[in-house]
Amino acid sequence: MTFVITTPLYYVNDKPHLGSVYTTIICDTIARYKRLVGEDVIFITGVDEHGLKIQRTASEKGVKPQSHCDEISEIFNNNWKNWDISFDKFIRTSSNNHEFIVNEFYERVKSSEDIYMGVQKGWYCVGCEEFKDNPENSSTYKCPIHQKNLEWKNEENLFFRLSKYQEQIEKIINEPSFIEPVERRNEILNFVAKGLKDFSISRTNVSWGIPVPGYDDHTFYVWFDALLGYVSAITSNSKDVSLKKSINGGWPADIHLIGKDILRFHAVYWPAMLISAGMKVPKKVLGHGFLTREGQKMGKSLGNVLDPDILLSKYGNDPVRWYLIKDISLGNDGDFQDRRFVDIINNDLANTIGNLLNRTSSMSRKWFDNKVPNNTKITIDNVLENFANIAVKNYIDKFENYKLDQAANEVLNLAINTNLYLNDNQPWILIKEENNFPIVQEIIYNVLESTRIIGLLLLPLLPNLSSKINEQLGSIYTKEIPWEKQLKWGLLVSNSSLPKPTPIINKLEYEKHI
Ligand SMILES: [Zn+2]
Repeated sequence: MTFVITTPLYYVNDKPHLGSVYTTIICDTIARYKRLVGEDVIFITGVDEHGLKIQRTASEKGVKPQSHCDEISEIFNNNWKNWDISFDKFIRTSSNNHEFIVNEFYERVKSSEDIYMGVQKGWYCVGCEEFKDNPENSSTYKCPIHQKNLEWKNEENLFFRLSKYQEQIEKIINEPSFIEPVERRNEILNFVAKGLKDFSISRTNVSWGIPVPGYDDHTFYVWFDALLGYVSAITSNSKDVSLKKSINGGWPADIHLIGKDILRFHAVYWPAMLISAGMKVPKKVLGHGFLTREGQKMGKSLGNVLDPDILLSKYGNDPVRWYLIKDISLGNDGDFQDRRFVDIINNDLANTIGNLLNRTSSMSRKWFDNKVPNNTKITIDNVLENFANIAVKNYIDKFENYKLDQAANEVLNLAINTNLYLNDNQPWILIKEENNFPIVQEIIYNVLESTRIIGLLLLPLLPNLSSKINEQLGSIYTKEIPWEKQLKWGLLVSNSSLPKPTPIINKLEYEKHI
């Protein structure tokens, strides 16, 4: 089965910030998991390059919009490689293939008689590229996201007949699986209940956009163009491009993962556009929350913006991933706290998982000739085996429901239980009596086997750490056998060699300013 997952197509007005890194890491985790369970994944990311905001940013820099976009797109593309993001498609909305898809889509919507010429008047936020719902005192009102005044617009635009799709959109958003979490769904239910208004899909004062066929001076509204990037991405590498090819290539998307600020576009406008063009709507729109820092909104004026590049170079990929996945419940707002970050990484990854592996491997090497002991079965009820089986079951259940923080906690709990098992059984005391040799074999085998399963479960969450565990245990994962089958207890090979242990993760030092 094809599984299509998308990040938003990021605006190229600036380099990636922590919020974009967060969204992309979550998508990457889901994409990796889906590949492991055998889905044919298309993981789409990319950049949204058109619109007034980009046009102005380029002109402030004194460069052509295209060269500004080339530069920033390259930064995004490299950035995701630095973060080891396993994307399959990187779509640029200034590409010819994309323009072709937009035109074809527009023709379909036009032949559904959903396009007409009208006058668009209203207060517009250039940062959001969105008309605001008549805020009071609009001339002095500032967009809460961008802290900038709105601009008055009054121009002839082409409109899309969104109002025609009121009932169909209501039906879609009433489906509980379509918008998650439920708070986001309720926002949209309320918005749609007020009655959908047609929206303009062209602009006359924006030259940096895709020209609307048949209308000189009109370019497509950036959102009309950008949303279609998800469709054109599917065939972005092919020579011949068409909507039909994208549809056959895997459309509709299984998940659009987005920030809550762009929910309306994805959960209302986009499905209506797709229905109009005779296409299937996405299966799920998952809106995550905002990230704050030490309880405060991040902003240039506050001087508290956390640069993801610094986080990556200072702490590496795994610690940042673990914090963002495990400490934030997907859908809720999250807070980045320096002290908490250091504590979580040291407790969870260095102490609970890293030390467990390190000390057990050392004991095994010392007592069993640098090898994994025999899988000796003396105890009838293997408590650790039971813990592991339950953890695997729960983990899969959580992942299937995109409860990534809870899935991560299942792995951590298994590690905690494995440490307890080791401390309860005290093999370092038992080994002093020769009679105890078989029971020590059993204990050490069980702990190593549990560690193997922990490493396997970490594969989509922390791919680097997982592969380090793989090296320390000789092998935990092979591509030849389905991942789920490898999660079965007892597959660690008896008498296989154990390499000399090295720490899989370093402890972090707390510094006041990251
Ligand atoms: Zn705004």
